[in-house]
Order: sequence, then structure tokens, then C-alpha cells
Amino acid sequence: MNTVVEPLTVLEPSSSAALGRLQAVRAHDYARSRNHLEGAVTRLSPYITHGVFTLPQVLDSVQAAERARDSKGRALAPDHKFINELAWREYFHHVWQHEGKGIFASLHEGPMPESTYARVLPDDIRQARTGVPVIDEAVRELYTTGYLHNHARMWMASYVVHLRKVHWRAGADWMYGHLLDGDLASNHLTWQWVAGTGSHKPYLFNAGNVEKFAPSAWHSRGSVVDASYEALEDIARSGKRLERPGRAPEGAGIEEPALLQRPPFELPTARAGDLDGAWLVHPWNLRAPDAAQGPVVGVFAAAFHSRWAWSERRWRWALALMREHTDRIVWCEGTPPPSARTVADPHLRAWLLPGQGEPVPRLFADPGRRCRSFSQFWTRVQEAR
Ligand SMILES: Cc1cc2nc3c(=O)[nH]c(=O)nc-3n(C[C@H](O)[C@H](O)[C@H](O)COP(=O)(O)OP(=O)(O)OC[C@H]3O[C@@H](n4cnc5c(N)ncnc54)[C@H](O)[C@@H]3O)c2cc1C
Repeated sequence: MNTVVEPLTVLEPSSSAALGRLQAVRAHDYARSRNHLEGAVTRLSPYITHGVFTLPQVLDSVQAAERARDSKGRALAPDHKFINELAWREYFHHVWQHEGKGIFASLHEGPMPESTYARVLPDDIRQARTGVPVIDEAVRELYTTGYLHNHARMWMASYVVHLRKVHWRAGADWMYGHLLDGDLASNHLTWQWVAGTGSHKPYLFNAGNVEKFAPSAWHSRGSVVDASYEALEDIARSGKRLERPGRAPEGAGIEEPALLQRPPFELPTARAGDLDGAWLVHPWNLRAPDAAQGPVVGVFAAAFHSRWAWSERRWRWALALMREHTDRIVWCEGTPPPSARTVADPHLRAWLLPGQGEPVPRLFADPGRRCRSFSQFWTRVQEAR
């Protein structure tokens, strides 16, 4: 079996690489081609998740570039596809803000009762040995780069939940750990959207859909996904589970990288007083602190990682960016003192004191009441502009 070999360079952990990606965004090309695996997607998500850029910074930069490129100096229209996609991220955080821990359980019943679904992700999926090329390719790419195109994530989640009858939560936890951009709201709520526990129908795809949007190595004719939508719908809405649904696996599988609750590098443990009055750079605000923030300390919070393990790649990725902005980095086993300040990212909600820290900058005004769907959220935030 192959093991994952050394690190990616495509999503380099540096603010200059992040800036290069931001400057490379072509919003009109994006709108035309974003569903294709080789389309003009931005690959900004690891930088956004880790707070290298806030969403308003991303949009301001893209709008300035569009105005400069447009012969009449026009910016993107407020309902442009690129802005709409950024809004999805903000919508999932809106739902998280209202539901709290509720996002980790099904928001409502899906196509089948919860007891239909297994709670453990099978090894042939984890090891890219299903024999369904689209799935095996996606698993390999996830492990070797820490990134997956949105369409590949949707295919993977749909296969896991509807064809293999594995509970969305098992798939979401696994994928979260391996992604460089793993974001609990975007990840777990999108798995729910695919599963039909956060939307009103299961998301399904077939071999024809893969052929239209993916390179040939992913094409999956002759496997279980080479079926009509009616047949797939029938499987999704029945107790049928496909144990060995692919063609015979062609290549060797791939070893799943370990997921680690502690950093794979040495860090001093924070002692009493270390964080007093400090500005904390944590994995969700990996950007230069504003001037005059006082002492700056990089910090990884044990309380978060004891619950949510990361791949070695992600630990090292976050560390490299943290080092750009801090001279001192610590592992924090307790909670930060009230005098420490930071950005109150929701991933650290349970670690920070209530009200401690600055809010995460948002693209849109808070719509107040919980929106029941993305379209309701999108309508409300557009009206409020
Ligand atoms: C099963 C599944 C799991 C996912 N898990 C995550 C996750 O852990 N972290 C994460 O950031 N996104 C997640 N997404 C959403 C989406 O797939 C990624 O944000 C996107 O693929 C990242 O690549 P990109 O930066 O090239 O995106 P682009 O298509 O270039 O989009 C630009 C930015 O818009 C936002 N965005 C675009 N599409 C979505 C979307 N559907 N939902 C939320 N935000 C979006 C992201 O911030 C993204 O960086 C998931 C989607 C699915 C289907």
C-alpha cells in the first residue's frame, strides 16, 4: 500500500502565497467554470479558514481588481456567483451561531431513519480501495494535498451516506481531520446538506455527472454510480447498502495519515502569567496583528485539539503561518487569562471566556433571526445592503 509522501507546495503556508492566490482570482472565469475540477476555483479556503484573510478582505481585494480590469471601472454585481459562494460560508457560520453544538447532530430527519446508517467509515473508503474511481481518486487527493474541489467533496459525501449508508457524522469527522481548510460549520453543515438532514432532499450524482466535470482518471463507468438518478434515489430512500459496490480496485490503496490531537513538534506548555495582557495569534487568526497590540503570543489550545484531531500536514501548515507573526508559540492546556485578547473565532468558543475577544469580521450585517435556508439568508442579507 502506498503511503502519503511529502508535503504539498500548491497550498504553501505563507502570507505571500496567500496573497498571490488572492491576486490570481478571476471572478468571471470562476463563475463560468467553478463546477469543473479543473475550473478557475480560488483554493483560498485554507487561508480563509485560518484567518489569513477575513471574508471582507477577500471581497474588497477582488472588487478592487475587478474595477481596475473593467473598462468602465465596474465592480462585481452584489449577486455575482463569487459573492454568493462566499456567502455560503457566512451562512454556515450563521447557522452555527444559532444552533451551537446542535450542528453536530442531524438538524432534522433525512431520507432514512438515523438507525439505518453505520457509525464507522469502512476501511476500503479510508484506504481508497472502493473500486469506484471517483471516490478512490478523491481520497488520494485529500490525503496528498489536504484539499478537495467542492464537487469532489459532494460526490464523496453522497457516496458515503446514500450508497454505503454510513452516517454523515462519521464522514464529516473523518474529512474534517484531513482537510487543510477544515471548518466545522462549512464541513459538518455541508455534509448535512448532502445527507438531506440539513436540506430537503438527498444530493445524488452519477457517472455522467463525473464525466462532465472531472478528468478522465475519475470517470466511473461500470461502477455503482453508473446508474440513473431514479435508481440512485431508490437506494438513497431504502435500507439498501452496497458493501462492495465498485469495480475491482485497480491500484494499491493508500494508507490513511494519522490524525493527531497534539502537535507533531515540540512546543513549550504555557505557564501561569505567560499569556497575561498578550494578543493571541491562534490557528483561526493567522494574520499580522494590528500595530500596538502589545506582546504577541502564538497559541494552540489543547481543549480544541483534544476533541478535533488534525493531520500532521495541517499542524505544520498552521505552525508555519503562526511563525510569521509571532516569536513565541505555546501549547495551552488551560484557558487564557481575562487580560489576554484575540479574535473570538467560534472554533474557540468553549476555550475563551464569554465575550472575550473581538468578533470575526463579517461580509454581511447579521440577519438576526435564524434563517432556515441559504436562500432565505441570501435574500435577507441582500435586502439589508
Ligand atoms: C462535504 C463538504 C465538506 C466541506 N468542508 C468544508 C470545510 O471544511 N471548509 C471549507 O472552507 N469549506 C468546506 N466545504 C465547502 C467548499 O467545498 C469549500 O469551501 C471549497 O471547495 C474550497 O475551495 P476553494 O477555496 O477553491 O473554493 P472556491 O470555489 O474558490 O470558493 C471561494 C470561497 O468561497 C467559500 N465557499 C465556496 N463554496 C462554499 C461552500 N459550498 N460552502 C462554504 N463556503 C464555500 C470558501 O470560503 C471558498 O474558499 C465543504 C463542502 C462539501 C460539499
